[in-house]
Amino acid sequence: MTRAPSSDTQNPLFATWTGSFELPPFARIEPGHFRPAFDRALAAHRAEINAIAADVAVPGFDNTIGALEKSGHELERVANVFFLLTGANTSDEIEAIERDVSPLLARHSNALYLNRALYARIDDLYKRRDTLGLNAERARVLERYHTRFVRAGAALEKAAQERLAAINERLASLGTQFGQNVLADEKSFALMLEESDLGGLPDFARAAARAAAEERGQPGKYAITLARSSVETFLQFSSRRDLREKIFKAWIRRGENGGITDNRALIGEMVALRAERAKLLGFASFADYRLDDQMAKTPAAARGLLDEVWGRARAKAAAERDALHALVAEEGGNFALAPHDWRYYAEKLRKSKFDLDEAEIKRYFQLDKMIEAAFETARRLFGLTFAPVAVPLYHPDARAWEVTDEQGRHIALFIGDYFARSSKHSGAWMTSLRDQQKLSGDVRPIVLTVCNFSKPAAGEPALLSFDDARTLFHEFGHALHGMLSNVTYPLLAGTAVPSDFVELPSQLYEHWLEVPEILKQYARHARTGQPMPKALLDRLLATRTFNQGFATVEYTACALVDLDLHSLPDSAALDVTEFERMDLERIAMPAEIVMRHRLPHFQHLFSGGGYAAGYYSYMWSEVLDADAFAAFEETGDAFDPVTAKRLRDFVYSAGNLREPAKAYEAFRGRLPTVDALLKKRGLADIGADGHS
Ligand SMILES: [Zn+2]
Repeated sequence: MTRAPSSDTQNPLFATWTGSFELPPFARIEPGHFRPAFDRALAAHRAEINAIAADVAVPGFDNTIGALEKSGHELERVANVFFLLTGANTSDEIEAIERDVSPLLARHSNALYLNRALYARIDDLYKRRDTLGLNAERARVLERYHTRFVRAGAALEKAAQERLAAINERLASLGTQFGQNVLADEKSFALMLEESDLGGLPDFARAAARAAAEERGQPGKYAITLARSSVETFLQFSSRRDLREKIFKAWIRRGENGGITDNRALIGEMVALRAERAKLLGFASFADYRLDDQMAKTPAAARGLLDEVWGRARAKAAAERDALHALVAEEGGNFALAPHDWRYYAEKLRKSKFDLDEAEIKRYFQLDKMIEAAFETARRLFGLTFAPVAVPLYHPDARAWEVTDEQGRHIALFIGDYFARSSKHSGAWMTSLRDQQKLSGDVRPIVLTVCNFSKPAAGEPALLSFDDARTLFHEFGHALHGMLSNVTYPLLAGTAVPSDFVELPSQLYEHWLEVPEILKQYARHARTGQPMPKALLDRLLATRTFNQGFATVEYTACALVDLDLHSLPDSAALDVTEFERMDLERIAMPAEIVMRHRLPHFQHLFSGGGYAAGYYSYMWSEVLDADAFAAFEETGDAFDPVTAKRLRDFVYSAGNLREPAKAYEAFRGRLPTVDALLKKRGLADIGADGHS
């Protein structure tokens, strides 16, 4: 239990943080401090907004847009700490506060974006924008404010605004509940095993399962949890078909178990509310509304890309399935390949075809070495240096580095929080405690990446799969987008770009993990310290397109179902299970593959909604990243300094200074084509209709 603080002076969230790097004093922050801090910060921001709206002076850029950009500082500070904890280190107490606070924040955002007096000032400025003498950045900020307000409903009639406000509040509560339900299902399930159940599991998987059982208070046993790295490893290696089926079912049924954590009714309500909101704002569907302000612009454009890939991916997956079937038959297995068999037989096939097994590879991917590899890549591309610093953080597993440039100037503080634990939401993400800006002094960012890698037993090195290493590079790419940000206005900083562009810096960064000189230097054997033998390295790189039919189908199905769901004009009484089944039938989903995220636990779409009607973004960005990396390949140098400088200027440091398409063109000299993506996924030789 935590007592509410007795006075403001005891609440560290009210104080100015003067410790190292002005980090929040995590050790002194208790859950009970958040609600009073939110209340005070919300009131302060409200007062600032009202003062701007009520200003009797003629609207100018500084007294309206500039003033808005300087407002809400305290709220952002409190919210950044709070939402870091809700994602990475939550508790029943934090979750209860989150349920209280999320509708308050939605109400607050309504009060800002539906403020008519404030909108009148912005609209007035926007109409006079060509006469204001604004530089490019200020013009962009004004345009973004105007678009945001219009898209939020600022120009609508009062009755419509009131309905929008109610919808937003309800959506905020539902989104919070959705994420908490998934976490609850993940926390409450663990497959507890005995030594004799571990057939097929390599040492690293046994060690991770032992550590997971220990964390759950059952030392001596082995726990397979629903964290992706735990369950996927088990599915890949366990020779026990019955246990694979058991864990797989629990995994794909998160959010669909009946009872209070079942998410299906929530989804129905959310989709209906989103469709209604889109209609109020003049759009045919939520997908139309959402994509209007993305790089893709229309659902048809996003679908066009997915269709380009889907037929090819299905054809490749069908060939892969046949090869796995053959392997089952060869082993005398008298059953049809099921979804819980795919990873197991794919791993076997990979091992025999490429003489490569995951357990062997993993010994070369030590977490600490991969962190160094990501840092070294940033040094060679952007001249950054990373020095570990001992600072108190919110969990002992989190680590910090100070980032400096060639001149030794402070660029950012980077925090990495890598291991799975039951207080952490699944997945991997980048977030920040402070964003870059130059409007209120030279503010440098504090950026975090949060991952869910299996924690090793005490004294053992943390080992990653090649996929885990790719995730590490991915999130670090997002982190660089935050850390290298070089804009004046907070609105445009770092990752504040459309979601179909935001995956460019992250997915592009993954390419450097596969650059041979990086692997040679950092893929070193955990025990001997020897670099990966060249033959093994070559074989590893040769497997890049192996099983890509599966991976592409698993992903693309999610993106298509997401677009279809959010294109429904009216979804009252939606039966989520039935919708998912029918839609997968419509797109002819292969029976042996399950969506990477089924709707009842699809947090990208429903836990906050950042990727609702936007899951296609990863592939949209992949068109960009594959094409962008080709720019380096064309020079013959993966670290070509001229290309790296353009990349930094127009992508990593540019935030939302330009329209995404213009930013990309400025970097590449042209818009991208889909060719590099098809090649990367091994789909280039297959026609769009699925025929070779
Ligand atoms: Zn990402």
